[in-house]
Amino acid sequence: LVAGRFLDTLAARLNQSLAVPHDVILATAHCGEPNASYEPDIRRVTLCYELIEALRQSYAGQEGGEYVVTGTVVFALMHELGHALVDVLDLPVTGREEDAVDQLATLLLLEQGPAGDSLLSGVAAWLTLMAEADELDDLSFASDHGIGQQRVYNLICWIYGRDPNRYPEIRDEGWLPATRRDRCPAEYRRLRDSWQRLLAPHRRIPSRGDP
Ligand SMILES: [Zn+2]
Repeated sequence: LVAGRFLDTLAARLNQSLAVPHDVILATAHCGEPNASYEPDIRRVTLCYELIEALRQSYAGQEGGEYVVTGTVVFALMHELGHALVDVLDLPVTGREEDAVDQLATLLLLEQGPAGDSLLSGVAAWLTLMAEADELDDLSFASDHGIGQQRVYNLICWIYGRDPNRYPEIRDEGWLPATRRDRCPAEYRRLRDSWQRLLAPHRRIPSRGDP
Protein backbone atom coordinates (compact mmCIF):
# COMPACT_ATOMS: atom_id res chain seq x y z
CA LEU A 1 0.00 0.00 0.00
CA VAL A 2 2.80 2.38 0.92
CA ALA A 3 4.56 1.45 -2.30
CA GLY A 4 1.34 2.02 -4.26
CA ARG A 5 0.83 5.49 -2.82
CA PHE A 6 4.48 6.35 -3.31
CA LEU A 7 4.35 5.26 -6.94
CA ASP A 8 1.09 7.10 -7.66
CA THR A 9 2.66 10.28 -6.33
CA LEU A 10 5.85 9.69 -8.25
CA ALA A 11 4.07 8.82 -11.51
CA ALA A 12 1.91 11.95 -11.17
CA ARG A 13 5.00 14.09 -10.53
CA LEU A 14 6.84 12.61 -13.48
CA ASN A 15 3.82 13.11 -15.71
CA GLN A 16 3.57 16.73 -14.64
CA SER A 17 7.23 17.34 -15.04
CA LEU A 18 8.21 15.47 -18.22
CA ALA A 19 6.69 15.51 -21.69
CA VAL A 20 7.23 12.10 -23.28
CA PRO A 21 6.29 11.41 -26.92
CA HIS A 22 4.74 8.03 -26.11
CA ASP A 23 2.78 6.75 -23.15
CA VAL A 24 4.56 4.19 -21.01
CA ILE A 25 2.36 1.60 -19.36
CA LEU A 26 3.05 0.61 -15.77
CA ALA A 27 1.66 -2.85 -15.11
CA THR A 28 1.74 -5.62 -12.55
CA ALA A 29 1.60 -9.21 -13.79
CA HIS A 30 2.41 -12.83 -13.08
CA CYS A 31 5.70 -13.52 -14.83
CA GLY A 32 6.84 -16.89 -13.48
CA GLU A 33 9.87 -15.31 -11.82
CA PRO A 34 10.57 -12.61 -9.21
CA ASN A 35 11.52 -9.80 -11.54
CA ALA A 36 10.66 -6.47 -13.14
CA SER A 37 11.21 -5.53 -16.76
CA TYR A 38 10.75 -2.96 -19.50
CA GLU A 39 9.66 -4.12 -22.94
CA PRO A 40 10.46 -1.49 -25.57
CA ASP A 41 8.26 -3.00 -28.30
CA ILE A 42 5.11 -2.46 -26.25
CA ARG A 43 6.55 0.30 -24.03
CA ARG A 44 5.53 -1.44 -20.87
CA VAL A 45 7.14 -1.59 -17.45
CA THR A 46 6.08 -4.76 -15.68
CA LEU A 47 6.41 -5.45 -11.99
CA CYS A 48 6.01 -9.15 -11.28
CA TYR A 49 3.79 -10.25 -8.41
CA GLU A 50 6.42 -12.92 -7.77
CA LEU A 51 8.95 -10.24 -6.80
CA ILE A 52 6.58 -8.66 -4.29
CA GLU A 53 5.67 -12.08 -2.91
CA ALA A 54 9.27 -13.27 -2.61
CA LEU A 55 10.25 -10.09 -0.79
CA ARG A 56 7.25 -10.32 1.52
CA GLN A 57 8.03 -13.91 2.40
CA SER A 58 11.66 -13.12 3.14
CA TYR A 59 11.22 -9.92 5.11
CA ALA A 60 7.70 -9.77 6.59
CA GLY A 61 7.93 -9.26 10.34
CA GLN A 62 11.66 -8.50 10.34
CA GLU A 63 12.88 -5.26 11.83
CA GLY A 64 13.10 -2.72 9.03
CA GLY A 65 11.59 -5.32 6.69
CA GLU A 66 8.99 -2.92 5.34
CA TYR A 67 11.76 -0.67 4.03
CA VAL A 68 13.39 -3.60 2.29
CA VAL A 69 10.14 -4.75 0.67
CA THR A 70 8.79 -1.31 -0.26
CA GLY A 71 12.18 0.12 -1.16
CA THR A 72 13.09 -2.77 -3.42
CA VAL A 73 9.74 -2.74 -5.21
CA VAL A 74 9.87 1.02 -5.72
CA PHE A 75 13.53 0.93 -6.77
CA ALA A 76 12.90 -1.89 -9.23
CA LEU A 77 10.07 0.08 -10.82
CA MET A 78 12.11 3.28 -11.00
CA HIS A 79 15.02 1.38 -12.50
CA GLU A 80 12.74 -0.01 -15.22
CA LEU A 81 11.16 3.41 -15.66
CA GLY A 82 14.70 4.65 -16.29
CA HIS A 83 15.06 2.13 -19.13
CA ALA A 84 11.70 3.37 -20.45
CA LEU A 85 12.84 7.02 -20.40
CA VAL A 86 16.10 6.15 -22.16
CA ASP A 87 13.98 4.46 -24.82
CA VAL A 88 11.09 6.90 -25.38
CA LEU A 89 13.21 10.04 -24.98
CA ASP A 90 16.07 8.51 -26.95
CA LEU A 91 18.47 9.63 -24.23
CA PRO A 92 22.19 9.18 -24.84
CA VAL A 93 23.89 6.70 -22.53
CA THR A 94 27.60 6.12 -22.59
CA GLY A 95 28.72 3.32 -20.33
CA ARG A 96 26.47 0.69 -18.91
CA GLU A 97 22.78 1.55 -19.16
CA GLU A 98 22.16 -0.60 -16.08
CA ASP A 99 24.37 1.74 -14.04
CA ALA A 100 22.77 4.84 -15.53
CA VAL A 101 19.25 3.77 -14.62
CA ASP A 102 20.38 2.78 -11.11
CA GLN A 103 21.53 6.38 -10.84
CA LEU A 104 18.16 7.73 -11.93
CA ALA A 105 16.27 5.43 -9.55
CA THR A 106 18.55 6.57 -6.72
CA LEU A 107 18.12 10.26 -7.54
CA LEU A 108 14.35 9.95 -7.64
CA LEU A 109 14.32 8.15 -4.28
CA LEU A 110 16.74 10.55 -2.62
CA GLU A 111 14.40 13.40 -3.59
CA GLN A 112 11.62 11.99 -1.47
CA GLY A 113 13.24 13.06 1.78
CA PRO A 114 14.00 10.80 4.77
CA ALA A 115 11.41 8.22 3.63
CA GLY A 116 13.28 7.87 0.36
CA ASP A 117 16.60 7.50 2.21
CA SER A 118 15.16 4.69 4.35
CA LEU A 119 13.76 2.96 1.31
CA LEU A 120 17.11 3.21 -0.44
CA SER A 121 18.83 1.69 2.59
CA GLY A 122 16.32 -1.16 2.30
CA VAL A 123 17.37 -1.64 -1.31
CA ALA A 124 21.02 -1.79 -0.24
CA ALA A 125 20.14 -4.44 2.37
CA TRP A 126 18.33 -6.49 -0.25
CA LEU A 127 21.13 -6.18 -2.82
CA THR A 128 23.64 -7.20 -0.15
CA LEU A 129 21.70 -10.38 0.60
CA MET A 130 21.33 -11.12 -3.10
CA ALA A 131 25.05 -10.58 -3.59
CA GLU A 132 25.90 -12.95 -0.74
CA ALA A 133 23.71 -15.64 -2.29
CA ASP A 134 25.27 -15.13 -5.70
CA GLU A 135 27.89 -17.61 -6.78
CA LEU A 136 30.33 -15.56 -8.76
CA ASP A 137 31.93 -17.24 -11.72
CA ASP A 138 33.76 -15.91 -14.71
CA LEU A 139 30.52 -15.28 -16.60
CA SER A 140 29.26 -13.00 -13.80
CA PHE A 141 31.72 -10.44 -15.08
CA ALA A 142 30.17 -10.62 -18.55
CA SER A 143 26.78 -9.46 -17.26
CA ASP A 144 25.34 -6.13 -18.38
CA HIS A 145 24.51 -5.56 -14.68
CA GLY A 146 27.18 -4.68 -12.15
CA ILE A 147 28.02 -7.28 -9.54
CA GLY A 148 25.55 -6.97 -6.64
CA GLN A 149 28.16 -5.66 -4.22
CA GLN A 150 29.21 -2.97 -6.68
CA ARG A 151 25.63 -1.79 -6.89
CA VAL A 152 25.42 -1.71 -3.08
CA TYR A 153 28.60 0.37 -2.78
CA ASN A 154 27.29 2.71 -5.46
CA LEU A 155 24.05 3.30 -3.58
CA ILE A 156 25.89 3.94 -0.31
CA CYS A 157 28.29 6.26 -2.11
CA TRP A 158 25.46 8.30 -3.60
CA ILE A 159 23.52 8.53 -0.31
CA TYR A 160 26.73 9.74 1.34
CA GLY A 161 27.71 11.97 -1.56
CA ARG A 162 24.48 13.94 -1.57
CA ASP A 163 25.14 15.14 1.98
CA PRO A 164 28.14 13.70 3.85
CA ASN A 165 26.89 15.07 7.18
CA ARG A 166 23.46 13.53 7.02
CA TYR A 167 24.50 9.96 7.76
CA PRO A 168 27.85 10.20 9.58
CA GLU A 169 27.75 6.46 10.35
CA ILE A 170 28.68 5.82 6.73
CA ARG A 171 31.99 7.52 7.47
CA ASP A 172 32.34 6.61 11.16
CA GLU A 173 31.56 2.93 10.72
CA GLY A 174 33.58 2.58 7.55
CA TRP A 175 30.79 1.51 5.21
CA LEU A 176 32.95 2.67 2.32
CA PRO A 177 36.72 2.65 1.97
CA ALA A 178 38.05 6.19 2.28
CA THR A 179 39.44 6.13 -1.24
CA ARG A 180 35.94 5.78 -2.66
CA ARG A 181 34.13 7.76 0.02
CA ASP A 182 36.09 10.94 -0.55
CA ARG A 183 35.06 10.95 -4.20
CA CYS A 184 31.35 10.43 -3.53
CA PRO A 185 30.22 14.08 -3.21
CA ALA A 186 31.70 14.90 -6.62
CA GLU A 187 30.41 11.63 -8.05
CA TYR A 188 26.89 12.41 -6.81
CA ARG A 189 26.95 15.98 -8.16
CA ARG A 190 28.12 14.74 -11.53
CA LEU A 191 25.36 12.17 -11.85
CA ARG A 192 22.69 14.58 -10.60
CA ASP A 193 23.78 17.32 -12.99
CA SER A 194 24.04 14.86 -15.86
CA TRP A 195 20.49 13.62 -15.39
CA GLN A 196 19.20 17.17 -15.04
CA ARG A 197 20.82 18.12 -18.32
CA LEU A 198 19.56 14.99 -20.07
CA LEU A 199 16.00 15.58 -18.92
CA ALA A 200 15.95 19.39 -19.26
CA PRO A 201 14.85 19.45 -22.95
CA HIS A 202 11.88 17.26 -22.03
CA ARG A 203 10.62 19.37 -19.14
CA ARG A 204 7.12 20.74 -19.34
CA ILE A 205 8.13 23.51 -16.96
CA PRO A 206 11.81 24.09 -16.32
CA SER A 207 12.57 23.34 -12.70
CA ARG A 208 15.63 23.09 -10.55
CA GLY A 209 16.88 20.29 -8.39
CA ASP A 210 14.43 17.77 -9.75
CA PRO A 211 15.65 15.03 -12.08
ZN1 LIG B 1 17.92 -2.87 -15.90
